[in-house]
Amino acid sequence: MKYHLVTLGCQMNKSDSERIAAVVEELGYVLTDVEEEADLIGIVACSVRQAAIDRVYSKIHKWNQLKHTKSLLTFVTGCILPADREKFLKLFDLCFQISEMPELPAMIRQYGVPTPFSSNGRFDPAEDAARLAAEGFESIEFGGHKAIAGRPVMMKQPETRIAGFWDITPHYQSRSEAYIPIQNGCDKFCTFCAVPYTRGREISRPSEDILAEVRRLVGQGYRSITLLGQNVNSYGRDKPGKELRFAELLEEIGKFGDACGERFWLYFTSPHPRDMQDDVLEVIARYDCLAKQIHLPVQSGDNKLLIRMNRNHSVQDYRRIVDAIRRLLPTATLFTDIIVGFSGETDAQFANTVTLMEEVEFDMAFIARYSPRPGAASARWDDDVRPDIKKERMHRLSEILRVHSEKHNARMLGGVYPVLVTGQDRKDGYLSGLTEGKINMRFASADTSLIGQIVDVEITRTAAFALEGQLRENPL
Ligand code: SF4
Repeated sequence: MKYHLVTLGCQMNKSDSERIAAVVEELGYVLTDVEEEADLIGIVACSVRQAAIDRVYSKIHKWNQLKHTKSLLTFVTGCILPADREKFLKLFDLCFQISEMPELPAMIRQYGVPTPFSSNGRFDPAEDAARLAAEGFESIEFGGHKAIAGRPVMMKQPETRIAGFWDITPHYQSRSEAYIPIQNGCDKFCTFCAVPYTRGREISRPSEDILAEVRRLVGQGYRSITLLGQNVNSYGRDKPGKELRFAELLEEIGKFGDACGERFWLYFTSPHPRDMQDDVLEVIARYDCLAKQIHLPVQSGDNKLLIRMNRNHSVQDYRRIVDAIRRLLPTATLFTDIIVGFSGETDAQFANTVTLMEEVEFDMAFIARYSPRPGAASARWDDDVRPDIKKERMHRLSEILRVHSEKHNARMLGGVYPVLVTGQDRKDGYLSGLTEGKINMRFASADTSLIGQIVDVEITRTAAFALEGQLRENPL
């Protein structure tokens, strides 16, 4: 029996897929890259982006055609909005929430078993809320200052369901890099984002389980471990006194990492500026294994736009955090996310983002042209910045970023840096890797046994977003 799995969307979905793979392989399925060979096909969907949803439709239509010639079971899970779920129910054999994953073997055995997520043929918010409440789900009304009044209900998965999902030992796709989910859901309700409606409210995973997973991965030789969550630095706030706070969790990992004798880097993504306190930065400064790299989404450099995005922090707050990063972690690289052309963004507001970019000098920025996300609050507002202006704004920020990256990388010339070797480079006879600050680099070597190791490399050439170097010594 073979299975085929398609993953759309963010790193969180990719991490979820690693657990799904573990569950279906436990049932005896073997992975195939060829859809036509599969007996079970699943897709981890993402309602957050329209392009991803369009891909789900094109895929399922093809897979349903395959059913004319063979026996095939299809499922869909992931970040799914109620409106998409209603449509998927008619197209897929199984449609369930990620937290229901531990029940997948039972669902497959009794194909067609309704799940709490999919048991209603039609989505009725009020009916769903009552039924889910009876089943132990917590439902809340959206409303008030969040500018999402009138939307239906959203679900909080009962603790036991998501805990069962976290308990699955994933089949990691890489032998050196791994992702550990530390929470599920989001309470922030940024107006451009649908995640709180697809994943539900924040639930923190037990600290001891996270620490055990870190210890296990380090013991297995993983060199890059990333704690994953929609708001990693609000970790533990839903369970005060019961679970560690985020800084405390990092402290425990730091103590273990620096004492265990293995070389690895611990990352986290994504923190929210609103919850970013100095204590997190101070802990990172204390331990070698806590990577000196921070990815802190800012989204805009304009206060009015940040309010419209419901980010709940100001540009001044963000600057204060950047100052603290520079002071406490002087070698850290700083990454961000920015949206250009958000609904209502004026030239003057965009100019404020340019000013912030110039001031902060990010090492990397993931710059996106705004497009309304179905299900997000801003989807009801005009998408009123012309596409050509969005494109121009994106190019302007990309050029600023390129200049800063080139400048920062040039400072590394001649230095020796540890590099995690991630694979063979496109250039023949070269291996590629990442520095601790997640800057891409390559060096001449045909020794593929180095892949997955941290080696020391002297930087001999630099460019924007890339480094080239020479291997200095043997790996640990
Ligand atoms: S913090 Fe904002 S952007 Fe991030 S997942 Fe939550 S709502 Fe979405």
